[in-house]
Amino acid sequence: MDTPTDVLHRVFGYDSFREGQQEIIDHVVAGGDALVLMPTGGGKSLCYQIPALVRRGVGVVISPLIALMQDQVDALRALGVRAGFLNSTQDFDERQLVESEFLAGELDLLYLAPERLRVDATLRLLAKGEISVFAIDEAHCVAQWGHDFRPDYLELSRLHELWPEVPRIALTATATPATHAEISTRLGLDQARHFVASFDRPNIQYRIAPKNEPKRQLLDFLRTEHPDESGIVYCMSRSSVDKIAEFLVDNGIAAVPYHAGLDARTRALHQSRFLREEGLTVVATIAFGMGIDKPDVRFVAHLDLPKSLEGYYQETGRAGRDGLPATAWMAYGLHDVVQHRRMAMEGDDAHRRRQVNHLDAMLALCETVGCRRTMLLDYFGQKGSQPCGNCDTCQTPPSSWDGTVPAQKVLSTVLRLARERRQKFGVGQVVDILLGKKTAKVLQHGHETLKVFGVGADLGNTEWHGVVRQLLAQGLLAVESDHGTLVLTDESAAVLRGQREVPLRRDTLLRPARTKTATSGGKSTPAAVELPAEAAPVFERLRSWRGAVAKEQGVPAYVIFHDATLREIATMMPSSLAELSNVNGVGENKLAKYGEQVLETLQEDDPTS
Ligand code: ADP
Ligand code: ZN
Repeated sequence: MDTPTDVLHRVFGYDSFREGQQEIIDHVVAGGDALVLMPTGGGKSLCYQIPALVRRGVGVVISPLIALMQDQVDALRALGVRAGFLNSTQDFDERQLVESEFLAGELDLLYLAPERLRVDATLRLLAKGEISVFAIDEAHCVAQWGHDFRPDYLELSRLHELWPEVPRIALTATATPATHAEISTRLGLDQARHFVASFDRPNIQYRIAPKNEPKRQLLDFLRTEHPDESGIVYCMSRSSVDKIAEFLVDNGIAAVPYHAGLDARTRALHQSRFLREEGLTVVATIAFGMGIDKPDVRFVAHLDLPKSLEGYYQETGRAGRDGLPATAWMAYGLHDVVQHRRMAMEGDDAHRRRQVNHLDAMLALCETVGCRRTMLLDYFGQKGSQPCGNCDTCQTPPSSWDGTVPAQKVLSTVLRLARERRQKFGVGQVVDILLGKKTAKVLQHGHETLKVFGVGADLGNTEWHGVVRQLLAQGLLAVESDHGTLVLTDESAAVLRGQREVPLRRDTLLRPARTKTATSGGKSTPAAVELPAEAAPVFERLRSWRGAVAKEQGVPAYVIFHDATLREIATMMPSSLAELSNVNGVGENKLAKYGEQVLETLQEDDPTS
């Protein structure tokens, strides 16, 4: 029998396990149940794929990601693993074929949509074969209070009753202690060993920029830092998704929209283009991305504030699964805070409390003067890590200043306006009053006679917006749910009475992305990162060879080889199949299939030199 390490080398072509993998695999191979928490890109798939290959029988993988099953199976088949799937997209004949392969013992792995298990025929089928392991992927879908609840997942607790002797491994990247506990109870995994990997994604650079001209900022970011690279831009609404996608296309960037308002065919097409093409940007609502395991997503950009750190971490985690440098960039401003504070006030009490807690955590990340990564890891229960050096606040530490007096000016203006019971005023009016602007609306309400009129001439419009934003973020101001009217909170009084200081972050406003890039070492495309100059053209040649092969086979390029693998080949310049087999990501099957072609590609003369 092959050991897990043999399979890792031979089938996957990897040198060594990543943190946590070996322990988990050994435990499951020995027949134990496991609950695995690992960040996106951490390497969860191997944790069930290897046990399935080592143990007798077929590994059954339950996954909600129907649209991705074909790609997952293709990627496994490219490695020589006998994989198949059953879901609602297949016709009778296709299903029959997979079922007969399963019964004949010709499969190593079978992917199943959870709703298949409701069908008696599926259970009867499974009962006739031999099952090596049940893997429950995206296990947080069983958590009713989570953000991806799927009722079909509740049925999965039955697997254990029907097949008590088959080990089960549940995996998720959503890690708050509450979700963790709920998965464990609902799936009956109390006896399972819990494995919690480090949640750090060191290759992802976290940055949050003050939002002033979001479209322009996004375009600058893409052009200067990620030209022709794959990435995801998240927006909150369908209409902004459409607008931003159009804007990018108008500006020469290959981009497609994705949201629940598009018909299923368009969505499938855009998803498939994202997986297959290089250098495509998807502009999407959060409907996009779950289970997308494209390894070379180089950036995830947020143009609107996510509702929670869980969401933010999951979305940004889609960048850089291949371990190469990637950027999580967000533009964030006053409007986001106002809008989210308002939305958080919807629903019943319990719901509101939860939303407010989520939002407070999210805002704390945006406004922090400390390391963003430390804060994220801390939130996910990994306390005490050191400043990372790879986030904006580590690289350009923002200063803080004593904002007590400006805060008092804002609060006192809000207090005075609140006395005018019939009228409601938002941020704009407050700032105009502070700046002493005699606008029509100011004059109409006689606000030029207020004592606070013009007391804020020491700061500009943008700075005042920054002050209001931070007061909202700190809970020293609130928004009423109807028109965005500013109101005081219980905490405001202490500030007005001078009993509480208000430290504020000095926004590094209007810093062009260019300057930032230059100061952080002139990062450009990943091809340029870490690659010696002479290897770059070879890498490009390998890429275009790979593109042609992928196209011919109708699979995403990374199914042939990952960028990281091509990069290593271009640097090492192996001259024989034996040398090539030492490259990370070159397993038995791929060596046999592509080895010769790769060596030939290496020998080709570089037409540009
Ligand atoms: P997850 O499901 O946790 O998001 P994946 O299982 O998709 O992550 O793995 C992320 C990437 O890391 C994949 O491209 C995978 O091939 C690669 N990978 C996983 N384990 C290893 C390993 N031991 N050595 C090298 N690469 C690995
Ligand atoms: Zn940091």
